[in-house]
Amino acid sequence: MDSLPFIDLRAQWEKHEPALKEALLGAAVSGKYILGPQVRELEEALAEYVGALECVSCANGTDALTLALLAWDVGPGDAIFCPTFTFFSTAEAAALRGARPVFVDINPVTFNIDPNSLAEKILWAKEEAGLRPRAIIPVDLFGLPYDYEAVARLAEKHGLVILEDAAQGFGGIYGGKKACTLGHVGITSFFPAKPMGCYGDGGAVFTDNVDLADVIRSSRAHGAGGHRYEHVRLGLNSRLDTLQAAVLLVKLSAFPEELDLRQEVALRYERALVGMVPSCPAVPGGRLSSWAQYTIRVPAVHREAIMAHMKDLGVPTAIYYPKCLHLQPVFAALGGRVGDLPVAERASAEVLSLPMHPYLTESDQDRIVSALFEAMDRAAKG
Ligand SMILES: *Cc1c(COP(=O)(O)O)cnc(C)c1O
Repeated sequence: MDSLPFIDLRAQWEKHEPALKEALLGAAVSGKYILGPQVRELEEALAEYVGALECVSCANGTDALTLALLAWDVGPGDAIFCPTFTFFSTAEAAALRGARPVFVDINPVTFNIDPNSLAEKILWAKEEAGLRPRAIIPVDLFGLPYDYEAVARLAEKHGLVILEDAAQGFGGIYGGKKACTLGHVGITSFFPAKPMGCYGDGGAVFTDNVDLADVIRSSRAHGAGGHRYEHVRLGLNSRLDTLQAAVLLVKLSAFPEELDLRQEVALRYERALVGMVPSCPAVPGGRLSSWAQYTIRVPAVHREAIMAHMKDLGVPTAIYYPKCLHLQPVFAALGGRVGDLPVAERASAEVLSLPMHPYLTESDQDRIVSALFEAMDRAAKG
């Protein structure tokens, strides 16, 4: 039997083919490949969708993080707090600025930053490590908005700024506020596999701070000043291509329906899996997940066998993420050890993400669930 796709981008193309073709061709024919009118149009539509005053698009989500840290002039001596259980970029952007990433443990249910661990790490950075606590980068992992209230309280208490990493969280909601607005600055990514992807790399920065947005807009184009070839700061070459903006305008109009479909797919998984697997994702009250991933836990000792057997049955699975950031070789000099952040370490050994996209049919989902049960059974019997 054919293997199922992990994310079915083909189905989305087929559903929106005429509009996508028109957008792509229109951008190609226009000749305005850099900062064409679609880019500004998209920024306005995105800002309105998430409910932010300003949106600055850029080349990818990693640059979006870097642009925010640049605008705050984050650098050596600064402590930047982030969860250890996330994609590498979250910490990479801080470390590239010369700042010190300080890794924080996670909540075992939401997989997001644990405010208690965060409070401890802030005190440690200030009182023991002699660092200057500057910013928190909470992550909306797998699409679920982070614990905004608890983290915002700590940020206020210690005078820190919040940079929400909503690379996976676009579309999520926390207490009526949309992801990308749950902080002083929020970022997202339009990498194809994210909840709203383009046809290459893309990203955006959101804020209600108009002055900061001006700095970020300048920084994404070599620190441009008032006129061409005048540079008032060091920046990046990080614009969003007109072609990608054109694609994203179509995708954004399809997005609310896709977000609803994702809720249905997640609900069907939940009905089939609760009580049958060690843990299913839980969405705390007042939050909506954009379901970038549907991530369950399986016994660590059986995970490899389960994945292999499911693959044989034509069902792809993935591990996000097999290695915590505090244990990454590149951060070895920071002294992270096995056992330092036990909740995240356990998650990295147990998580398993199932195929997830808005166009997953009920019958394909049944096939995924049966393959999972068969693989778990087989693994348990050794
Ligand atoms: C994908 C991702 C990023 C980086 O986005 P890119 O567009 O790939 O650079 C940052 N943080 C998280 C949590 C991500 O999942």
